Amino acid sequence: CGIVGYVGHRQALDVILGGLRRMEYRGYDSAGVAVLTDARELVVERKAGRLTNLEAALDTTGRTKFAGTAGMGHTRWATHGAPVDRNSHPHRDSTGRVAVVHNGIIENFAALRAELEESGVELSSDTDTETTAHLIARAYDHGETAGDLPASVRAVCRRLEGAFTLVVTHSDQPDLVVAARRSSPLVVGVGEGETFVASDVAAFIEHTRDAVELGQDQLVTISRDGYEITDFHGDPAEGKPFTVDWDL
Ligand code: GLU
Repeated sequence: CGIVGYVGHRQALDVILGGLRRMEYRGYDSAGVAVLTDARELVVERKAGRLTNLEAALDTTGRTKFAGTAGMGHTRWATHGAPVDRNSHPHRDSTGRVAVVHNGIIENFAALRAELEESGVELSSDTDTETTAHLIARAYDHGETAGDLPASVRAVCRRLEGAFTLVVTHSDQPDLVVAARRSSPLVVGVGEGETFVASDVAAFIEHTRDAVELGQDQLVTISRDGYEITDFHGDPAEGKPFTVDWDL
């Protein structure tokens, strides 16, 4: 339902929780975060219920474990799978290196799920989303997309049917966050030494008002230095820049 991603110089957890709070008005049933930590780990916390449940879980785990300047967050409005902890986003692949948050519906997830199960992958949720985490991990490990996160996400997006905004992180790529969209909103926020992605500008307008709207079937890679947009085949593409001029 609500998505935010960040790479910059602030504590990602603070930016993400602030962004999720600003999107609470949209409604949701669960919430979660993933941070690429200073210790080069991908750490995830997710909880059914209000954001305050997630914050209590973060306090129990200890927020120092989440020290890091890149990551993403999600508020879920369940379409596939009950609103329980294990169906909350982010979803990870079996090795825990890839994390994905998703808005929308992957219409062909049953076929993708069957394909994964046939190759021995055990899925740990009832969502349509989880399939994408396993497929992206596989693309990152094999073939011509190996070691290339944007190319791996593009390859998987080309196989997806339905409407989606996806945000993806990989523990091997601690300075990048990749996001893609089809028929579901995605905006980039451009700051000084920091870049945001979100489903709604409300998630980042307290930090920057320079925004870029992505077009249909586009993917963006954000880093501390800015952003790069391509289509799902890897050809350079342009978003639509605009300035957010409304007041908080
Ligand atoms: N289809 C996904 C799920 O049920 C995403 C729902 C959403 O847009 O929040 O988990």
